[in-house]
This record gives sequence, C-alpha cells and structure tokens, in this order.
Amino acid sequence: MSSLQSISSNYSITQQLSPVPDRRFERSDVERVLLVDDEPLSRLLTKAALEDAGLVVTEAGDGEEALHEFRRESPALVVLDAIMPGMSGFDVCRALRDTPQGKHVPVLILTGLNDEESVAAAYDAGATDFFVRSTQWTLLVQRCRYLLRASRMRAELERSESRVLKAQRIARLGIWEWDLNSRRLFASAECAAMLDLTYQREGFKPRMVWTAIHRDDRSRVCDFLKRALEGIADVRFDCTVAKRDGSNRIIHVEAEAELDHLGKVIRLHGIAQDITERCAAESQIRQLANYDSLTGLPNRRYFREQLQTAIEIASLETSGVGVLFLDLDNFKRINDTLGHHAGDALLKQVAKRITACLRTGDSVARNSDLSVPGVDSVARLGGDEFTVMLTRLESDDVAHGVAHRLLHGLQAPFVLDGQECFVSASVGVACYPRDGSDVDELLRAADLAMYSVKDAGRNGMKPYSPALVSGPQHKLELHNALHRALEREELRLYYQPQIDTLTGRIVAAEALMRWQRGDTLVPPNDFIPVAQETGLILALGDWAIDHACKQISRWRAEGKTPYPIAVNISANAFQTPGFVAKVANCLRHHGVDPEMLELEITETMLMQDLQQTLRALDELSTFGIKLSVDDFGTGYSSLSYLRKLPLDTLKIDRSFVKELYEGSDDEVIVSAIAALARALGLRVIAEGVETAEQAALLKVHGCFLMQGYHFSRPLPIDAFDKFVEGLAAEEKAASA
Ligand code: C2E
Ligand code: CA
Ligand code: CA
Repeated sequence: MSSLQSISSNYSITQQLSPVPDRRFERSDVERVLLVDDEPLSRLLTKAALEDAGLVVTEAGDGEEALHEFRRESPALVVLDAIMPGMSGFDVCRALRDTPQGKHVPVLILTGLNDEESVAAAYDAGATDFFVRSTQWTLLVQRCRYLLRASRMRAELERSESRVLKAQRIARLGIWEWDLNSRRLFASAECAAMLDLTYQREGFKPRMVWTAIHRDDRSRVCDFLKRALEGIADVRFDCTVAKRDGSNRIIHVEAEAELDHLGKVIRLHGIAQDITERCAAESQIRQLANYDSLTGLPNRRYFREQLQTAIEIASLETSGVGVLFLDLDNFKRINDTLGHHAGDALLKQVAKRITACLRTGDSVARNSDLSVPGVDSVARLGGDEFTVMLTRLESDDVAHGVAHRLLHGLQAPFVLDGQECFVSASVGVACYPRDGSDVDELLRAADLAMYSVKDAGRNGMKPYSPALVSGPQHKLELHNALHRALEREELRLYYQPQIDTLTGRIVAAEALMRWQRGDTLVPPNDFIPVAQETGLILALGDWAIDHACKQISRWRAEGKTPYPIAVNISANAFQTPGFVAKVANCLRHHGVDPEMLELEITETMLMQDLQQTLRALDELSTFGIKLSVDDFGTGYSSLSYLRKLPLDTLKIDRSFVKELYEGSDDEVIVSAIAALARALGLRVIAEGVETAEQAALLKVHGCFLMQGYHFSRPLPIDAFDKFVEGLAAEEKAASA
C-alpha cells in the first residue's frame, strides 16, 4: 500500500468510526466543500489546499459517490473534475441541477489546460464556473472563496426576499407598480389575488384592474389616482373590489409617484391591503358600543350622544327637542312569571312597536332612519326603560301627542309563546329648552315626570313640570333611584342576632335593610324616610318580608337551625287592605311557620291610627305572627291601649341603653319598662347594647334578651351563619 493510499484509507476509517454528524447542528460558518476527483493524488492535494484555507472537505472518487455524498452532506460548494470514468463531471453537474438541493449550489468544474471544449460543456451542464487545473492552489482557493461568498449573498437575498413576501402575505399586503410608459400595471401575487386576477409576471393592462374595482367606487378611485399623478404625496383611499364569486372586499390603497429627472411622473408605486376583516371588526365594535344587542336600538351611550347633537342643532335653529322616557309598568311580573326568554321577546316587540309608532305618525315621521343623529331616535337605556328623542319640535304638544300615541300603540296585546299578554307603560316628557338645557337635565326631567306617572297609578303620560321638584329635589331622585334599586335587586338584608344572655344563645335575628348602591352600602336612615314619604315603603316592606321568609326556608333546606326573623314594618303597611293576606301568602309560599316571622312596628307609628292598626294586628296575631313594639319608650303609649294590643315583645329603645349606668335616669326608665313588660306578660329586649356594663345592669333589672354591637353588628347572611357557628363551637368547648 502506498503512503498515499494509507493516508486516504486512514481517513476513511476514521470517518467510518465516527458517527454520522448531524449537519443541522453544525456551525453555519463552517463551509463544506464536496470535492469530486477520480485521481487520488490530485484529490489529496486539492483537499489539502482547501483545508488549509479553513474549509471542510468531503471527498468523492466518482460520480455515483459524488451524488450520494451531496445528498448526505448538502455541501455549500461542489468542485468537480471534468473528466472521470463513468459519470463525467458534466453528467454529475447536470444531475445535481436536477435536484431541488442542487439547483443553486455553486459548482466549479476543473478542466485541463487549453480544454476549451470542456469550458463550453461545463457551462452547458449548468456549472457556475470553471478552473484550469494548476499547481497554484491559492488561485483555486480564492476562486472557491469567491463562489462561496456569492452563493451566501444569493441565499441571504433569497431569504430576505422570502421574508418580505411572507410578511406581505401575513399583512395581506400587495405591492403594485403602474408604469406609465409601458402602460402596464405590475401587481405582486398577493395584490393580484386581491384584485381577483391571476398573477402575471408581465403585468396587466390597467383596464383589467379597472373592471375589478366596484362600479360605484370607480370615479372616486380615478380622482385619487389623478391626484397621485399630479405628484401629490401620500395619496391613500379605500375602495371595494367586486369579486367574481359575488363577494366584496375592501382594499386600502396607498400610492406615490416616481418622477424622472425632468420632474415628470413616470411611474406610480403603491401598496394595497385587504382590510375587509378589520372593517368588519370595527363596525362590530361600533355596533356593540352604540347599540343594545337585544333590540338593536341605540343604547344609553349612543342616545346621549344623539341627544347632545340634537340639542346643539336646536340651539342654533332655535327649535325644540323632546325627550320621552318610557318605562313598562309590569315588566318585572311578566319576566318573573313567564321567564327571561319571554321577557326578552317582549322587549323586542315593544322596541318594534315604539319604532313603528314614530314612523307612521303624521307629525313626527320625517325621517325613516331613526338612528341617525339629529333625527327622531328610539333607544333602550337598559331593563325596560326606553327613550324617544324628537327633534325640530315646533311645540310641546307634538311631544305629548307622541307620548299618547306610544301608550295607545302598546295597548294591543303582545303574543309571547302563544300567550297573549298586556303591557302598559308610564311615560314622562321633557322638552328642550324649557325643561332642561343639557342632556342630563333633560333626561332627569323626563325621568322625574315618568315616576310621577308611576306614583299616580301608572299607565299614562305626564309632561315634566317644576312642581314635580317643588319638594326637595333630591328626595324625588332618591325615590326614583330606590324604585330602580328594588327592581334591580340592589337591596340587602343584614341580620343582627338577638341573644338570650341567660343561655348565651341566639333566639332570633332582626333583619335590617341595606342598599347596595354601586360600591356604597347605603344605611336605611338615608332612604327609609324618603320611602316612607313617597309610599315606596310598602314595596320595600313586601320585599323584606319575602326575603326573610326565603331565608328561613333556606336555613332549613341547608340543614341549619332556622331562627325567627324580625322584620321592620311601617304603619302604612298595616293599614293597607290585604296586608295580612299578603303576609300569609308569603309564609305559605315559602313554607314558613307564622311563629318564625316577627313584625316590628315603632311605638310612635303604632299609636297613630290605632283603630286601623288594631284590626290588622289582631289578624296577624290570630294567624300566629309575632309582634314587637320597636323603639319603646319614645312614644306615648297608654297602658290601657297596650293591654288591648296582641303584642309579644317590647324593645327598649337604644337611647335609654346608650347612657345606662347605675343611678342614671335611664336606669329608672329601663327598670320601669322591664317591669311594665312583666306586668303585661310581654317579652322585653334591649337594643343597642354596646358594653358589658350595660348588659350587666340590664340583667339586674330583669332584661335578659339583648341586641347590640356588644354581641354583634348587623351582618350579611354569610357572616351571620359564621357567627352562629362560632357561638355553637364556643358552647361545645365550654361544655366539654
Ligand atoms: P331599628 O329598627 O331601631 O334598628 C336598630 C338599629 O340600631 C339598626 O340601625 C342597628 O344597626 C342599630 N344598632 C344595633 N345595635 C347597635 C348598637 O349596639 N349601637 C348602635 N349605635 N346602634 C346599633 P340601622 O340598621 O341603621 O337601621 C336604622 C333604622 O332603619 C332601623 O331602626 C329601622 O327603623 C329602619 N329600618 C331598617 N331596616 C328596615 C326595614 O327593612 N324596614 C323598615 N320599615 N325600616 C327599617
Ligand atoms: Ca327594629
Ligand atoms: Ca329600634
């Protein structure tokens, strides 16, 4: 074996021993050259020269091996001996060019001196370059390096081009160029697709592009392009492309002119972007932001905007704007009895009726599009509240007429799930500029007028008048807000335990109302007095009784000890006919024993209309419901009356407990009340017990039932349940 052979066989041994390298993880700056030469010596020398230059060389001794190594190694450069037995270098080159990998790889063919035929054949076979064999290895190395660099740059260029294309495709961005000389429009594939055209390398006649643009948009597009041709920078517009499949796409176009050295426009460059989806999303967002999804009517936000515009126009024209505030009278009942589905269906039908009323009307239907600002508009503010805006109002009478027509329009029955149902509404009317000068004032005025209809028995209309707010205005607003609170279920009951201090056990709970108004918890003293004045207290009382009964039955359902609940009731309630029957119904409905419900009425109220109250108290007590006199000691009850009343408990007013200490006047009073209770055979309970001293002194005077911060504040139901558990645990621990 010659030394040369041993070197080359050594090499192949080491190669066989080492595992096949994974080229994917090789450093990309190591460039591999495939050297194909059937002459071992020349191969060895060439190899050595290339390796000296830092290249990594793979060898092949013939054409077959060359193709095999090429597939395996993906070299960056192929150096091919032209003349080889079997497959010649040219054959190998042709074969490489036929593979996807080999299409662009630089191929250098080594030829003999003065072998012009080979040079021509090399180029024919697709070689990148040829090199006349010589002993000047540096020349070969330089040539190889040059070819590698050119190939790298080419690959880089291809990569960045493909990145741009990809980016364009992702951005749905098309590129176009309109050459004025050749009168052709070159469009990138993406752009051609947008125009519903098949890509053509040689571009399109502008006429073809023109027909792609929607007929209605053509003259507009023409104007824009003219501006671009005039050299106006930054021409941009949107246009619609009518596709052959019948769909329309919205395309955003930007154009810029290219000028020659004389300043004459020779070309327009531009981009085109399909923005159909973006436009759809935008319009959907607009729809969601401005319209009520149930009825499709403008929502509160948009209505306010429309009203604002209408007011501005009216102030310029010195005309009027009418605002009608409509609230359905019995929506909640329908919703509760027929279900939300029917409720929604009803709201939709009501929306249609209101809209129809405005359209057919002789005096107001001036414009068919009700949602365009500046014209009549119907909106749903939420729940069962609708508003109507009337513009260019010549007189208030027109607005009143519309209100009457709306009421009339709602009179015919609505059909819900095949069932006929009747709906009435209360409508308040306010007119700009007389009743208010801005959106808020007008809406508030219409709202107040609407509530005055509700208070007067519903189902009607009333124009706003300043008399509505002759009382302290905030009262009326509070009343209205409270009305809504009831419907929106913003009221809560807090429960304060009543403790038997002899056993340490809870004997009952007093339900105290709270109003969850947004983030604030409004205490009853801030709203009960107003509710009392406006009569809403009746509805609040009904709600509280219902809620308390529900709670008692829930305790039972949860396997907990149910406690009697004391509910505060106003005297008005006792005096309304049917009150007792209502309470009885409620108890039955929730399956609650009458003994579990206690009603508290203040001493002052009790004494107001004794005859009336007496009858109701008798009925309630016969039925088994417990009665307490609240705030006892502050009124002027006479003993003879108290004797007649079917009472169970006296609650010592907390003002007497507050400054209770030995030897105080209050001690005398507390002691007297306790004695009175005993004499009448009534239970007595002290309210507002805050300290252990107060509790101790109360016990001394025989008052063992107590309620107050000393034991617990009024608690939301979850906290109350926890308090109960805590007490039980304490008791267990104490007995253990
Ligand atoms: P009230 O019936 O005399 O209720 C007792 C009030 O004293 C409650 O005030 C309670 O939180 C508070 N209180 C309890 N323990 C203490 C204590 O140790 N110290 C002090 N300083 N106060 C204590 P709240 O809850 O603010 O209720 C105020 C009033 O509002 C009630 O007085 C009652 O007249 C009325 N109210 C509450 N809920 C209702 C209701 O559902 N219907 C009616 N008609 N009136 C209610
Ligand atoms: Ca009370
Ligand atoms: Ca009280």
